[in-house]
Amino acid sequence: MERTLIKELEKYIGKEVTISGWVDVRRDHGKLVFLDIRDRSGKIQVIFPSANTTAGANAKTTRPEWVVTVRGIVKERPENMRKEELNGNIELDGFHVEILAEAEVPFELGSELNLDTYLDHLPYTVRSQKARDVFVIQATIIEAFRASLRRREFVEFQAPALVGGDAEGGAAAFKVDYYYDQQAFLATSPQLYKQIMVGAFERVFTTAKIFRGEKHATTRHLSELVQMDFEMGFIQDHRDIMDALEHTMRDICADVGEKHADIFKRFNLDLPKLPKGKFPTLKLKEAQDLLGVAHEPDLEPEHERHLHEWALREHGSDFVFVTHFPISKRPFYTFEDPDDLGHTRYFDLLFRGLEINSGGQRVHNYDALVERIKQKGLDPAKFAFYLQAFKVGMPPHGGCSTGLERLTARMLELPNIREATLFPRDLNRIDTLLRVDK
Ligand code: ATP
Ligand code: MG
Repeated sequence: MERTLIKELEKYIGKEVTISGWVDVRRDHGKLVFLDIRDRSGKIQVIFPSANTTAGANAKTTRPEWVVTVRGIVKERPENMRKEELNGNIELDGFHVEILAEAEVPFELGSELNLDTYLDHLPYTVRSQKARDVFVIQATIIEAFRASLRRREFVEFQAPALVGGDAEGGAAAFKVDYYYDQQAFLATSPQLYKQIMVGAFERVFTTAKIFRGEKHATTRHLSELVQMDFEMGFIQDHRDIMDALEHTMRDICADVGEKHADIFKRFNLDLPKLPKGKFPTLKLKEAQDLLGVAHEPDLEPEHERHLHEWALREHGSDFVFVTHFPISKRPFYTFEDPDDLGHTRYFDLLFRGLEINSGGQRVHNYDALVERIKQKGLDPAKFAFYLQAFKVGMPPHGGCSTGLERLTARMLELPNIREATLFPRDLNRIDTLLRVDK
C-alpha cells in the first residue's frame, strides 16, 4: 500500500493507511503499546491494542530511532486526549509493523547537551527538533535571499572555490597543493569574481562557500562558511548598496516570519524588529562618540552590542549600519569618500549586536585601482587577471557580503555560531575534534 505522509492523515479518518518514519518514543501501558512516529511532515501516535498480537509484539521490540513502516486505521481522538505537539486530533490504530532498520542511540534526542557533545554526535543530534528548526530557517534564509535579488534582476553565478591568489591580499588563506608543484588557495571570498561579473550582467549574486584560515577561537568565527554576496553597477555611492541590502534583509525577515511562526514560538522569540523608516545609520566616529569610546579603526564586539541597544531604544530596530571606516584598515578595492578623506564609502551592517555584513562602493577606475594595490604593498601583476575587467571598462559599482551562519545565529538568538552551522569547521574540529600533538 502506498505511503501516506503524517500531515495528510486527517483526510483519511476511518480509512486504512501506511505510514513510514522513525520511532520517536515508545510507551507501554499494560497490554497497550504506543509508538510516536515521526516523518518529514509531522508526528502521530499509533496504538497497538494488544502486545499479544504479532503487530503488538513487533511494536514492543522497537526503540527510539528505529525506522518502521506501520499500517493502521486513522481515527479521531476524544476531545480530552488531544495533544498539540502530536498530530492534534487524530491517531492511528496500528495492526502491522515492518522494521526497516534497527537503531541504538547514545542518549535521548533533545536532551540538554554541551556543544561538544552535540557536535560529536551530529549525525544523530541533527535530528532533534531544535536542530531541524535551525536548519529549516537557514534554508529559508538562502531561498529568500535568492528570490529577493532575482526579483530585482540580479543574476546568480557560481564563484570558484579554488583560486590562484588570495582575494583580499591579506586574509589568511588555506593552501592547496595544485598541479605542477604550484600553490593554489581556498577562496577567502568571491569578491574579485563578482566584480568581474558586474561587467557582464550589471547585477549579480552568489552564495559561495569560502574559507578563512585565521586562528580565531570565538563564538562568531568559522573556518568554512557561506557568504551571500551581491554586487551591482551604476550606483551613486555606498548608500545605493545599503538600500539594496536593507531591501534584501526586509524580504528575508518577511519570508522567515511568514513561513516559520511555529519555530519562533518554540524558541520563544520575536521576529526581528524593523524600523518604520530606514535602518539607522551612524558613521564610525559618531558611533564611537555615542558610546563614549576612543576613535579606534574598528568596533569591538562589546561596542556592537551597545549599538544594538541604542538602535532598539531610539529606532525600534534590530539592525544598524556603521559607515566610514578608515581606509587604512579596508581592502584595496574600497572607495575613499572624497567628502571625508581617509574614510571609506564602506559599511558594516550589525544585526542584534553582531556584524553580519560588510560592503560598500569599489574603485572602478583602472589606474586608481592599480595605485591602490601598490599603496597596500601588493603586486599589481598578481592581480592582472582581475584587472582586465577594469581595462575593458567598469561602471561605478559596489556590493556586500552577508555571513549566512551569523545571520541564522542572530535570527534565532543562538549564542554560538556553531549552533547555526551544520558541520562547523574551526580551530579544533573537522567533524571530530582534531588531535593536537604537543
Ligand atoms: P570579522 O571582522 O567579524 O572577523 P570580517 O570583517 O573579516 O569579519 P568580511 O570579510 O567583512 O568579514 O566578510 C563578510 C561577512 O562574512 C561578515 O560580515 C560575516 O558575516 C561573515 N564572515 C566573515 N568571516 C567569517 C568567519 N570567519 N566566520 C563566520 N562568518 C564570517
Ligand atoms: Mg567585515
